[in-house]
Amino acid sequence: MTLTYHIWTIGCQMNEADSRHLASRLESVGCTPAERADEADLLILNTCVVRQQAEDKIYSRLLFTESLKRKKKGLIVALMGCLVGKKETEALRQRFPFIDVFMSPSEISPLLDFIQGAKAPSAEEDLLQDYNLPAPEKGQTIATHVPVVLGCSHACSYCVIPYQRGPEKSRPSEDILEEILRLAQQGVREVTLLGQIVDRYGLDFKNGASLAGLLRQTAAVEGISRVRFLTSHPNWMNDEILEAVLADARICPHFEVPFQAGSDEVLKRMRRGYTLADYQRLIDRIRQKIPHAGISADVIVGFCGETETQYLETVRLVEEIQPDMLRIAKYSSRPQTHAARHLPDDVPEDEKERRRVHLEKVLREQLDKRHRLLAGSIVQILVEALEKEGRWRGRTPQNKVVFCDDERDLLGQLVDVKLEWTQPFSMGGKAV
Ligand code: SAH
Repeated sequence: MTLTYHIWTIGCQMNEADSRHLASRLESVGCTPAERADEADLLILNTCVVRQQAEDKIYSRLLFTESLKRKKKGLIVALMGCLVGKKETEALRQRFPFIDVFMSPSEISPLLDFIQGAKAPSAEEDLLQDYNLPAPEKGQTIATHVPVVLGCSHACSYCVIPYQRGPEKSRPSEDILEEILRLAQQGVREVTLLGQIVDRYGLDFKNGASLAGLLRQTAAVEGISRVRFLTSHPNWMNDEILEAVLADARICPHFEVPFQAGSDEVLKRMRRGYTLADYQRLIDRIRQKIPHAGISADVIVGFCGETETQYLETVRLVEEIQPDMLRIAKYSSRPQTHAARHLPDDVPEDEKERRRVHLEKVLREQLDKRHRLLAGSIVQILVEALEKEGRWRGRTPQNKVVFCDDERDLLGQLVDVKLEWTQPFSMGGKAV
């Protein structure tokens, strides 16, 4: 029997990577992909609950899925990812009785066992085991993500990830490097190593393994021309990582270091474990060592008790550090978290939205100004995709999106582009 499958994914790069692993496992047992959900025998929803908005999307998708199941009795429905979490299965089973299989984040075996008629094992090792299998990339994927640290043991007061993804656990480097070698053999040229606090890679092995070491090993894999890593935490990003970036041009000078807030009071309530001055010092240290570094950051507006003055401290920080990208989120209260239990979610929704829109405007204006100065200069991109006929898309080492007008086939190549135009979130020109 060959089953067709369709995976619907929302959420972070970690979820994208989990879906990719699941797809390859399904294909290794003979399943084939279905373009549309209503054409599949096997429908998988890979979920995210980091904010209420994502959770709402899942519920409307579940309604749609239930209606599909009513029409097609044999349809197998699986729910995976952060909505399932580590221990939510029973409540979900009662709430959504039409779902056949539940899988925690990064866990794949239960579905494989279900379709192969075996009973689902629940051993801890399965999680790492699931990642040890080949992960063929479909089509011409040039850049992809590889999880290296699963779970998270930090306890930011707003964040549900540690509850849903379980404690931090590094994957053995042999498994990671084997996966990356396979990806390279399939045409992948850039990998981004993923972890909630990626800088903590290997610390749980207590054998000297580190992110810096893994970055060097990854860059040395034949066929790989670029390596990135995210997300960093200000307390764990260290000089060894900076040295690794400096020493190897294949390791991109691109740092994803969230600050989340620019006010010490707010940072304290967020339980981030650093102060504004700590963060400023870190950015200074990165820029001193690597002047051309790209800095991206996550920030939350409207966190519990955030006053206008405290929000303006965030704005001041953005003006000072001039980030290359910001991911701005409005605070969303998440069940189980310390903030949800102990701090009132007291910034009104329209005020959160005002701060988000305002901060985005600050960022856009900054980037517009800074990117204009780049016009006429030459940047190197790894070409990832054909945007449209005669126009390629890639990113600079600093993670800026660049379009390159060229009639040749440039896919997968490192290309020097002379910039002719710039915008806040992209720029473009011709190959030189
Ligand atoms: N582990 C990474 C990323 C966590 S999730 C880190 O340490 O930052 C990605 C981003 O989602 C976070 O950086 C944060 O900005 C945002 N986020 C997490 N929980 C949130 C919540 N409850 N409300 C709004 N944004 C949230």
